[in-house]
Amino acid sequence: MCGIVGAVCTQDVTPFLLTGLQTLEYRGYDSAGLALLNGGLRRSRSIGRVSELGVLVDQKRLHGNIGIAHTRWATHGVPAERNAHPHVSGELAVVHNGIIENHAELRTILSGLGYEFTSDTDTETVAHLVEACLAGKVGQASPSLFEAVRAAVPHLKGAYALAVVHAAEPETLVVAREGSPLMLGQGDAGFYAASDASALISETRQVMYLENGDIARLSVGEVTIRDAEGQSVTRPVTTSPPLSR
Ligand code: GLU
Repeated sequence: MCGIVGAVCTQDVTPFLLTGLQTLEYRGYDSAGLALLNGGLRRSRSIGRVSELGVLVDQKRLHGNIGIAHTRWATHGVPAERNAHPHVSGELAVVHNGIIENHAELRTILSGLGYEFTSDTDTETVAHLVEACLAGKVGQASPSLFEAVRAAVPHLKGAYALAVVHAAEPETLVVAREGSPLMLGQGDAGFYAASDASALISETRQVMYLENGDIARLSVGEVTIRDAEGQSVTRPVTTSPPLSR
């Protein structure tokens, strides 16, 4: 289980995402990728090092004020570009740390609803499930990405830290956690999320640790957290120590 970073800012988040992934490299990984919203969903993935992903991102001139990124340690599906995160469903993208235990059952249901799978991962089921909740193919159509993620997670069994963006909501980053670590930080230019506080340090050492069952909506000026019962909650801000490596 490797790394997640995400950000929604008043400026280009690409340098933060790549720096964050580099900070998490010591944990080991087999591939890396990121997705940015900038007049639509833009994605780049690589089975090489984060620095090689950076070269690809430069070549494609990717940038955006909101994005998610991931280093993968494969649990379902071989290390390959098609299995690297982010996984997409239409214009929605997801990064995930952890394991979705009921992925086979979800894959059968979502394939039956017409979703086409392009990877062997458990994670791709999450992308299609959230899209299905947004579209009203599972339950009633959700009015927002935040509500779609809230509608989707009760269907997931296993451990996850998730970060999700959708081109139709280019100012919203949604994250959720159950069993895998995830934390938020507020910087001068916006809000940040990561699976490890070290990945936030380039922007902030003031960190809010999400609890199991929490789902958060991040925008440039605001963060909203709901707990597993759907109650609006706040989480204490702690100061993370300086990097020792
Ligand atoms: N289970 C997912 C996969 O195999 C995520 C692995 C991870 O945490 O990096 O793609």
